[in-house]
Amino acid sequence: MIDLSFEIRRIKMALPGIELDYVNSYVVKSGDEIAIIDDGMYFLDNLRLLMRELKSMNLSVNKIDKVIGTHFHVDHITLTPAINDLASPEFYIGEKDYKIISNDVEKFLSSTLSLYAQNGTPKELVERILKEHPLMRNKRIYEEMRNLDWRKLSDGSEIKVGDIIFKVLEVPGHTPGHVILEANEIAFTGDHILPKITPNIPQYPVEEKSAVTYYINSLVKTMESKVTKGYPGHGDQIDSLPSRINQLLQHHNERLSEVLGLMKKDECVTAFELAQKIKWNLSKPFADMSSTNKFFAIGETISHLYNLEENGKVERKERDNITCWKLISP
Ligand SMILES: [Zn+2]
Repeated sequence: MIDLSFEIRRIKMALPGIELDYVNSYVVKSGDEIAIIDDGMYFLDNLRLLMRELKSMNLSVNKIDKVIGTHFHVDHITLTPAINDLASPEFYIGEKDYKIISNDVEKFLSSTLSLYAQNGTPKELVERILKEHPLMRNKRIYEEMRNLDWRKLSDGSEIKVGDIIFKVLEVPGHTPGHVILEANEIAFTGDHILPKITPNIPQYPVEEKSAVTYYINSLVKTMESKVTKGYPGHGDQIDSLPSRINQLLQHHNERLSEVLGLMKKDECVTAFELAQKIKWNLSKPFADMSSTNKFFAIGETISHLYNLEENGKVERKERDNITCWKLISP
């Protein structure tokens, strides 16, 4: 008899220096195979926690067959080189995020920041973000990750873990190459769909269209795939993915209206100026936010402006060589 069941163990990995409580790492065991979905952040306590959890399941790190990263962010995949030191699993990541980690991450961050500078972010803030960004603090780990033998995932790829076959859905938005894994109506959603917080949707210079446009399309695509239950990158299990998707779609519609509402007829305003006026779902006003949260807020403002531009609501102009945005009167 074939046993089609699989076991999922959630591990809450610590996030030192990041303003979130923890990231979820999932151990998936099916048949005689083990996969880790998002191994977490590089930190000795996290590696020890992973080893202890595996031990309690009568497993060990050197038995891991596959490590799958939902996206390239520091909190999700930087434990990978440590796992590579102890075992020889196959490593997987979305192909567009692979492009980012296979290049110099500092250059990637710098080119993202020049887009933000072009959108009015002051030079001092750009420098502070570059200095304090978690990606920079883990630069050495990303250099190690470049040399790992990553297998690239794209839309429709399949990954077999024991008796289950996960279907890969490419869901750009939070990152250009974010992927989710689906099987038996459940999905490991990474940061594409989170239960409590709305995922940050920043504009990356590598993207052709607005990241918000990509994200809205990805949410609709996830809805159409008929998955019900979600295992997210942060927070508890999501019992109804369709209702959470509807909330997220509504959130972005409201934010698009909010941006339009903050713009005055005949006035040309920068994304940085708008980012200071938007009501962010954080306890602090923009001025008191950490440089990393300011980075998120500015990126999210740009991606919404790009979406409004694509839909003929705003147009871009220039003010002292800086991009500013104007309402298009109906
Ligand atoms: Zn993320």
